[in-house]
Amino acid sequence: MDPLQMSPLSDQALGLLHQQREHWPLLAENHRILEQAKIHTMEFDGFSVKVQFNPGRYTSSAAKTDPEAIRGRTCFLCRNHLPAGQKSLDYGDYYLLCNPYPIFRDHLTIPHSRHIPQNIEGHIGAMLDLAHALGSRFTVLYNGPRCGASAPDHMHFQAGEAGFMPIDTEWRRIVERYGVHVIDDSRLRVARVDDGLRRFVVMESANRTKLVEQFGHLYRRFKAAAGGRGWSEEPMLNILAGVENGRLHVIIFLRRKHRPDRYYAEGDDQMLVSPGVVDFGGVCILPVEQDFERITDEDLRSIFREVSAETQMLGEVVPNPGR
Ligand SMILES: [Zn+2]
Repeated sequence: MDPLQMSPLSDQALGLLHQQREHWPLLAENHRILEQAKIHTMEFDGFSVKVQFNPGRYTSSAAKTDPEAIRGRTCFLCRNHLPAGQKSLDYGDYYLLCNPYPIFRDHLTIPHSRHIPQNIEGHIGAMLDLAHALGSRFTVLYNGPRCGASAPDHMHFQAGEAGFMPIDTEWRRIVERYGVHVIDDSRLRVARVDDGLRRFVVMESANRTKLVEQFGHLYRRFKAAAGGRGWSEEPMLNILAGVENGRLHVIIFLRRKHRPDRYYAEGDDQMLVSPGVVDFGGVCILPVEQDFERITDEDLRSIFREVSAETQMLGEVVPNPGR
């Protein structure tokens, strides 16, 4: 990765994180717990997945995000409901907050200034602008409303320090090994990838407009293809975006399921794993210690395959040119 490019917004964000870790007891305590989180790395063919035991994430992993549960609570991302002690930093239509239940050492939540539903359509440009403004210090993240977003009723992104998720540094290598390029010129590269765990699309360009346009094609095709199965709302996806040497890259993970069957299983089969974008980026969060101790690479393979879109869907969403 290139040397970290600092930007005015990333400086301000780091200042906010520093201030909040010092003066907001909830974050200070959860940051302290995170510092002690156990991690081990599992190697796959050409990439890796870190498994993190993080008891602070129990509430998020077990969260009910069905419409009824959402209606019954006040929105914790609306500015007028922010907990006492939580500070915000304005950026365009969004504002930056420190995530009080961090996975990353530097973990931001970035809500829209209005209480509008989580939906990437019409907001991918804002995500790219955030990635650009935060520079190479951060990776910007999006969880679809049915793919791990803890507040599906309030549009928001997250950001975490670049380099923590293995995919931040491994994506080029993975694309080379497992990817099929459908567009490959100096202005825009688009590849679809099946690495045996995940099915995803990588888009890379210095040109924001081209990326927004390409994402639009993908989104419409995915929505049309997935809609045929009776899915409603947004097709199931998780996205991350980052900057390297002035070029933006966007990685879109295609999903078919939010939680694997083992999440709901009983007895020994039960495993509290609820994959969102960070898990897909290669940091699998396990809030239960026993799960952390016993999970195997074969478990990871089967869990990720189960919740990822099928190979055929990947081909439909990102077809070869001329189709
Ligand atoms: Zn809200």
